[in-house]
This record gives sequence, C-alpha cells and structure tokens, in this order.
Amino acid sequence: MKKITAVYPGTFDPVTYGHLDIIERSSSLFDKIIVTIALNTNKIPMFTKEERKDMLVNVTKKFDNVVVDDFNGLLVDYVLKKKASVIIRGLREISDFEHEFQMSLTNRKLEPSITTIFLMPNEKYTYLNSSLIRELASFKADVKCFVPVYVFKKLKQKFEGE
Ligand code: ADP
Repeated sequence: MKKITAVYPGTFDPVTYGHLDIIERSSSLFDKIIVTIALNTNKIPMFTKEERKDMLVNVTKKFDNVVVDDFNGLLVDYVLKKKASVIIRGLREISDFEHEFQMSLTNRKLEPSITTIFLMPNEKYTYLNSSLIRELASFKADVKCFVPVYVFKKLKQKFEGE
C-alpha cells in the first residue's frame, strides 16, 4: 500500500502545545510527518534554527513517525524532494483563513500533485501563537500551560538566564 508522507512547515519560534496538537493529529493520519522549519521567511526569529530544532526534536520524540528538518526556498520544491504529497497547516480562527487559502491555492497552482490539509487543534489552543508566548515570557509570565516543559525551560533561560 502507498505510504503517505506529510510535511508540516512553520517557524516554530518556539513550538507550542498548539503545534504539538497538530503534530499529534497528523501522526495518527499519515505514515510519516516531516516537521520542517521554514528559514526564508520575513520573520526574524528569537530562537536560532538549532534551538528551534532541538526543542522540536525533544517534544516530538514520543512519535515514532515524526522527524524534524529545516528548509530554504520554495515549499513545494522541498515537499517534492522529500517525496511527500501532503502539506499540513493548522487553522485556529477565521483570521488564519485568508492567508492560508491564498498560500494553499498558490501551492496547488505551482504543484497540483501536492494537497494542503488543514487541521484544527483542540479549541483550548485556538488563541495560542508563538509570538504571544514570546511576549508573555519576556515579561516573566508563567507560560507552563502553553508550552511543553522543555520549551518552558528554554524560554526561562533566554529571558532570565536560568
Ligand atoms: P508560520 O510562520 O508558518 O505561521 P507558525 O510556526 O506560527 O509558522 O505556524 C506553523 C503552522 O502551525 C501554521 O499552519 C499555523 O497556523 C499552525 N499553528 C500555530 N499555532 C497553532 C495553534 N495554536 N493551533 C493550531 N495550529 C497552530
């Protein structure tokens, strides 16, 4: 039977329980998931590529069909190179929709063989995003309920030098 590989791209600066929810759902749907850090975005990340990778590897090690990677360049080229056929994106709220809709249809135009699939997280994570976490952590707020313990420790190190 054909094995399906899915690519889950993002900035993951840092990975949150929202991302992890999407990874867990994808892991039960597809044979292999490549969680991949997009490096050529306009965003200036707070965590380096290595730090983001280290956090992703740590929090996804319980899933035996999930691997972590990074990429530069066009997403569809990367997906083809990895012999994947699905792009996973998370949909939190209506405000995500417009941008995701545009990206998904553009990617389909560029490469019709690749399908973007949207997954919705548990509703308790729908308001979560990495920039909120970074802002809260910079004010030393307790963000333990939003990110895995490993990420919490890394945020603490970043902002409090602990
Ligand atoms: P990007 O820069 O591509 O938005 P992110 O790391 O912020 O990168 O997000 C990667 C993917 O994860 C996107 O599809 C985004 O919608 C999704 N995502 C981010 N946070 C959540 C969340 N709390 N719940 C569900 N999906 C999320």
